[in-house]
Amino acid sequence: MAERFIPLVDLRSSIVRAARPRLPEPGSALVDMRGRPLRDLRISVTDRCNFRCSYCMPKEVFDKDYRYLPHASLLSFEEITRLARQFVALGVRKIRLTGGEPLLRKNIETLIAQLAALRTPEGEPLDLTLTTNGSLLRRKARMLRDAGLQRVTVSLDGLDDAVFRRMNDVDFPVAEVLDGIEAAREAGLGPIKVNMVVKRGTNEHQILPMARHFRATGVVLRFIEYMDVGSTNGWRMDEVLPSSEVVARIGAELPLVPLSSSVSGETAERWGYAGATGVHDPSLGEIGVIGSVTQAFCGDCNRARLSTEGQLYTCLFATRGHDLRAVLRDGSDDNALAGAVAAVWQQRTDRYSELRADPTAAPMLAGLARVEMSYIGG
Ligand code: SAM
Ligand code: SF4
Ligand code: SF4
Repeated sequence: MAERFIPLVDLRSSIVRAARPRLPEPGSALVDMRGRPLRDLRISVTDRCNFRCSYCMPKEVFDKDYRYLPHASLLSFEEITRLARQFVALGVRKIRLTGGEPLLRKNIETLIAQLAALRTPEGEPLDLTLTTNGSLLRRKARMLRDAGLQRVTVSLDGLDDAVFRRMNDVDFPVAEVLDGIEAAREAGLGPIKVNMVVKRGTNEHQILPMARHFRATGVVLRFIEYMDVGSTNGWRMDEVLPSSEVVARIGAELPLVPLSSSVSGETAERWGYAGATGVHDPSLGEIGVIGSVTQAFCGDCNRARLSTEGQLYTCLFATRGHDLRAVLRDGSDDNALAGAVAAVWQQRTDRYSELRADPTAAPMLAGLARVEMSYIGG
């Protein structure tokens, strides 16, 4: 069969060069057009993955003829670290490595060590974390911790082996991911979060078993609404199970009380398990629900995403990136690089999830060629 190339993005990426960088005054925050600061940076370190979750990299599209990015297009660890330093100077306090499957990137621990050495202008270390499917955690957890990683988020869509194997679509056994979570705990990579994408009709019956399994273990289980990200997963609204329903189903068996959000820009709504007196019992832990579809949280979204090849995206649902790799590789100095990032953020107006919920605006969003999650990272 002839080699196929499926464009993942609208290739109208723009090269950003701020002629006169408008860097914020020292001590004042960089904000976008809606007053939102830049705090959280997600860096995709590979577009490859050993799973084929149907909601992210469906097998029919990401098959043996699929062309992944050639190595020369990827940002090097030095380039990523140089860029990350500029982001930190502009306000970023949290960096999450993602992908594709980030643990597939060779020598990822070298990058982690470089990022762990970065300091905020106040001299503090960053909140450095990584999202993984857990398949390689048993092998790598200790090394990641030694390199300076603080914690991990593991994706796990069910406890039932048959359901899990079907959802990852490469027949990967659930026991190995659970063992990976255990390895992360042994290595001290905590607090551990577990993310479960809920698809109505596919794994909704796994909500309660997952809640029972992780209650009182110190692991924070978070339920994510199945999102219409990318253009390949055949998303349908009727497969979205609203977060409110997840809370109702768990709460009917294991009483829950609402908790206040820990930090501004927090995407998860937090619920604590109640003890016998009806108040939150910290020893039982908490869950989070991320209502990306039914409860838009664009108002305080402070996240930027850097693709594997150095495109800057200011929204998960963006159709266009901004080419920072070109700026990195054309001899620009750090000031110009920071100016390029600042210029993009200052022009940011994104609020896709809010528009999706607006009946007058939603039709205009249909048919847009959105970037794939495996390319910019979740
Ligand atoms: N491979 C790693 C993993 O699965 O954890 C990191 C990359 S993955 C793209 C990041 C997160 O995005 C995962 O938690 C995954 O479940 C979530 N995700 C991917 N596609 C999604 C979709 N259509 N809706 C909601 N979450 C999705
Ligand atoms: Fe791979 Fe993560 Fe996407 Fe699943 S969600 S296909 S593990 S990148
Ligand atoms: Fe942020 Fe875009 Fe998601 Fe809104 S839709 S919360 S702007 S990533």
